[in-house]
Amino acid sequence: MDNREWTRRGLLKATAAGAALASVPAALGAPGTAAAAERTTGGRPERVALTNVRVFDGRALSAPRTVVIDGGVIGLSPFGARTIDGKGATLLPGLIDAHVHLEDVGTLEQLTGYGVTTALDMACWPPSLVDSLRHRPGLTDIRSAGVPATAPGSTESMLPGFPQSDLVDNPAQAPGFVAARVAEGSDYIKIIVDVPGGLDQATINALSAVAHAYGKLANAHTVTSAAVDEALLAGVDVIHHVPLDTAVTSAVAARYAAGRRVSVPTLTVMEGFGALGIPGLSYAAARDSVIALHKAGVRILAGTDSNRKQGIPVQPAFGAGLHHELELLVAAGLSTVDALRATTVLPAQTFGLHDRGVISPGRRADLVLVDGDPVSDIRTTRNIQRVWAGGIEYAPVA
Ligand SMILES: [Zn+2]
Repeated sequence: MDNREWTRRGLLKATAAGAALASVPAALGAPGTAAAAERTTGGRPERVALTNVRVFDGRALSAPRTVVIDGGVIGLSPFGARTIDGKGATLLPGLIDAHVHLEDVGTLEQLTGYGVTTALDMACWPPSLVDSLRHRPGLTDIRSAGVPATAPGSTESMLPGFPQSDLVDNPAQAPGFVAARVAEGSDYIKIIVDVPGGLDQATINALSAVAHAYGKLANAHTVTSAAVDEALLAGVDVIHHVPLDTAVTSAVAARYAAGRRVSVPTLTVMEGFGALGIPGLSYAAARDSVIALHKAGVRILAGTDSNRKQGIPVQPAFGAGLHHELELLVAAGLSTVDALRATTVLPAQTFGLHDRGVISPGRRADLVLVDGDPVSDIRTTRNIQRVWAGGIEYAPVA
């Protein structure tokens, strides 16, 4: 179905603008094309000394110094290492996209080429596809929610190949749902909070509570202010997207802050939906939500909602989309340092990825060398000279 048809179906589902948004799918994963060409990097971890390079340390750029890549991690001694002169360039920790929907190895390759060395998938199925994308040396390292929790009859449930046996109808099904995801290897739990007609409050509450009982983060999909309210009530950890109907108010932002909720606004995909011209929905509401959340001191992470799902009208590009997201976050009031933190140290902390997100001896050698100074101009992150994923160099996208 084409974009117009998709939008029309969404609008037919409900009369209110907010209800129309319930049709914005969160989970776009589906069996990928196994035939996707797998580019051989031929790379192996090596010893490299990057000299004269300024390093983003999470607060500012350091004076020019030497960073050693030793196998798969950041090392200490440059002795005997191949030397690369990093004069004029900035070394960033490998970028983290906190919201994608993986499709196949090609999507991993595209992410890697843009310096996105970690991708947090927020719904993908079947589990065998997720497994096939894990642990691929030299490519983007992933984490995944696997199958998301959604109600029978939801837009999500009608996406191609959605496992109907995993639909959730009531709170009593929450323990079984979460246990099944944990057994499949899901790294965290994704809950589709779409109103009206989606999961009810009691079921969202139960899913969040059971996720926590398993030590898993609860991630909510919310694209209306009503859904945000439900997610906050349920005590989820990470609230993905921001409302397109009414901007988050300062009072709601204060609730995020008080509960230490984390926001992944995904402005890139919100911008795309705003441009569809659906009455009552606007990108301005999304942008103003980020302004309110940032002002309240809420932790904000960079995520794109990149996907290649047939029939979904907005498909942010893998890799390139994250650089656009950083620009949108800066346009919404984050400092360039805030934006860089939103795609490095902060998602690593939030998702417990303690081996990455900063450039420090012993951490994974996930690195992006860019020409120029992204603290002065965030667009500089696009000027990628070199990328290392787990110490293996990967040719950047031209
Ligand atoms: Zn999504």
